[in-house]
Amino acid sequence: MTADVLLPLALPGPYSYEVPSGMELAEGDYVVVPLGPRQMLGVVWAIPGGDGGGVKLRPVIGCIDTPPMPVAHRRFIDWIAAYYLEPPGNVLRLALRAPGALGEAPERIAYRPSGQLLAKMTPQRKRVMEAASEGPHFTRAELADLAGVGASVVKGLISEGALEPVALPADAPFRAPQVMAGRVALSPGQEKAAASLRAMLSERGFHVALIDGVTGSGKTEVYFEAMAAALAAGRQVLLLLPEIALTASFLARVEERFAAAPAEWHSGMRPRERERVWRAVASGEAKIVVGARSALFLPWKALGLIVVDEEHDPAYKQGDGVAYHTRDTAVVYGSLNDFPVVLASATPSLESLYNVERGRYRAIHLPDRHGRAELPAVSLIDMRAAEVTPGRWLSEKLAGEVSATLERDEQALLFLNRRGYAPLTLCRACGHRMACPNCSAWLVEHRFRNILQCHHCGHSEPVPVVCPACGAKDKLAPVGPGVERLAEEARARWPEARLAVLSSDLVHGKALATLIHDLAHHAYDLLIGTQLVAKGHHFPHLTLAGIVDADLALETADPRAGERTWQLLAQVAGRAGRGDKPGRALIQTHLPDHPLMAALAKGDRDGFFAQEMAIRRQAGLPPYGRLAALIISGRDGNETERFARLIARRAPQARDIRVLGPAPAPLSLVRGRHRWRFLIKAPREADVQAFLREWLHGIDPKGSLRLAVDVDPYSFL
Ligand code: ADP
Ligand code: ZN
Repeated sequence: MTADVLLPLALPGPYSYEVPSGMELAEGDYVVVPLGPRQMLGVVWAIPGGDGGGVKLRPVIGCIDTPPMPVAHRRFIDWIAAYYLEPPGNVLRLALRAPGALGEAPERIAYRPSGQLLAKMTPQRKRVMEAASEGPHFTRAELADLAGVGASVVKGLISEGALEPVALPADAPFRAPQVMAGRVALSPGQEKAAASLRAMLSERGFHVALIDGVTGSGKTEVYFEAMAAALAAGRQVLLLLPEIALTASFLARVEERFAAAPAEWHSGMRPRERERVWRAVASGEAKIVVGARSALFLPWKALGLIVVDEEHDPAYKQGDGVAYHTRDTAVVYGSLNDFPVVLASATPSLESLYNVERGRYRAIHLPDRHGRAELPAVSLIDMRAAEVTPGRWLSEKLAGEVSATLERDEQALLFLNRRGYAPLTLCRACGHRMACPNCSAWLVEHRFRNILQCHHCGHSEPVPVVCPACGAKDKLAPVGPGVERLAEEARARWPEARLAVLSSDLVHGKALATLIHDLAHHAYDLLIGTQLVAKGHHFPHLTLAGIVDADLALETADPRAGERTWQLLAQVAGRAGRGDKPGRALIQTHLPDHPLMAALAKGDRDGFFAQEMAIRRQAGLPPYGRLAALIISGRDGNETERFARLIARRAPQARDIRVLGPAPAPLSLVRGRHRWRFLIKAPREADVQAFLREWLHGIDPKGSLRLAVDVDPYSFL
């Protein structure tokens, strides 16, 4: 007997192995196989039958005693590989993120005081013994952590017999959620929405619903009802969020609603916790998982519902590695497993709205904010006419509104989607601009850390005192604002205000979760932030949202720029007035006559989206057409260009598919690699994958050359 085993490597397909006699293998089994001199974990993809054609194959080393990977999960991996033109092993790797979780959970050893007296007591030892005598039993690492001492201190106490070992249950269990606990009384509108979701769940089978409700309308409370229905039917539920920083507040909210802490899944978790969640998802014990995109690849035992919150968020598109879109693949997963998927957003993607229009998704509307809260009134500030002091970025109008808000003891938000202090550093003597040595990009000043940094490759250097080009001293000047510079202006204007800056390079992990929590509890008066603030936060004391430069996101080559800008600005504006007091949004723009700005001021989303849809339809852009990108890169500029032109000559003829390019990428150099791009445009019904496969067949980049395929691209840089 032979087995085709898929390995988590960039290989074209599974490898064949001999099944030694006496070993029983089935499709989906996790196995260990030899690969060259190594042993490797893989999954049995097929048992083809026959003897392998008489070829001598290497035998499977062992089969792991754990539930096999379900067939739907394997088909899902195959689907992603085929759709995104990715080697299936690369996709499998996403599903093997916790290899330590396979098999039995290792027993954990904890330590408790033995009662034996110590010859020598130090303050450090004393802290460890105090920690050990508190509450449950802690492991060695936990004790060191709690007492703030090195591992050797704890070790010493163990070897001297002052601490004795106790075996702990392998994994801490997940409590079962209670479907009715923490349920709020829904408003009539919410109840209607919840009822239609419940009906969808009771129909069973694959359906997609889009909860299209304004910010603060209670979308979360409504999809909690769908989750409750799935849980009541004995199924598992996955709640996907676009941003790890959001998970902490959502975990708390889910726990409050279902009286049980859900499992959490994202890239920032420790291996042990990862393994615990992986096992509990595989066994079916973990009923609710709140996670970032990779949670789709957990070994679900009985998944019955996926909720994709903030479904429009571009963070759902994986940027590197397998370039899958989480929302789209979640829908595919639902269809392969025959269960419903719920998407939620106040600013849905045109893709999802189009699917509603075509009758593929059902729309559930929540047009009003919950309770007394009203949508913020939006007004534009024409920056062409506004008085702004040079080196400052806030118009007197916006600054005045901030002052008034702070005087009323309410919270204000200033949004600027630019990290750092200044996006450009310029020599006023010779005009030299500080650029990255590895990328075609300016260096961004980060004054807090006193560096110039490249946002594409991470290169950083100290802020120079003399111009590297002309040698002039003290002539280098920052140009334009980033959040740090805006914070400087805010400190000067409102020295008394408690100021928080929310930017991914300044805070992350636990500190970020704490900051978000404190903001919700009014521990700060003024918040300055990048797009991190646009992601579904609930800050009930916030009543003013000021958008410092609304034009930024419009100035790109991205065909979704208009949609994206709308989503970003509407989400930021939507942070205001979510509590008892009404909110306002003020938008600084140089383009007050732009249709987008006019629509924002009127709150006319549907009008703006209809216009965007018409443009997309006419241009054959998504959702009416399909796009794919090829990115060619290499260390040598000429060689890269030659390779791009060679590929161009091999493009197959297809009447309905257009190939644009090759052209130097807008970011023509990244990390020392020269970049060229093709854009492939096709009608919806075209088989882009078949076209690409035919085109790229036999193209084999040599040396430093690389060819990357991006199906449904969201980045055009
Ligand atoms: P969305 O997800 O649409 O932005 P949320 O679900 O976060 O809105 O709701 C906004 C706020 O209103 C939250 O604090 C939420 O708990 C509260 N809320 C919404 N619906 C209800 C309800 N029916 N009863 C009590 N509070 C509600
Ligand atoms: Zn760089």
